Amino acid sequence: MASRRKSNLWRYWGYGVLAVLLLSLGSNAFGPGIYLALVGLLILYVLFQAPVYCGAVNRVRASGVEFCRNNSTGLILGCHLRQHKWQKFGNEWWSLSWREKTRGLWTGASAKLATVSGVIGTVTGLIGVFK
Ligand SMILES: [Zn+2]
Repeated sequence: MASRRKSNLWRYWGYGVLAVLLLSLGSNAFGPGIYLALVGLLILYVLFQAPVYCGAVNRVRASGVEFCRNNSTGLILGCHLRQHKWQKFGNEWWSLSWREKTRGLWTGASAKLATVSGVIGTVTGLIGVFK
């Protein structure tokens, strides 16, 4: 049980990167290269690793689009279903309206947290690079 909890915690390592970025702003601990590396890591984390819902299109109905609710990693990739994995690079996904796309992507607090963290981390990193 203990080891399982540890591995769960590791899925959130990107937020650790964010914390380091935020904390480092108060000091002059890092040079620009380190900020760039941390921002790069954080963006990779948000796009490919953050625990979120899949958000791929399950089916399109008259009442609206139905999105996949499987657990997934990263805002770009879908869940374990092969058709979902790369769907956000395909025509079906891009033919949706932006409203539907954001509805699919930002389902649940974790996806919003990932997006907000990515934005905050990028801004913080850029401040660190140019200050
Ligand atoms: Zn899926």
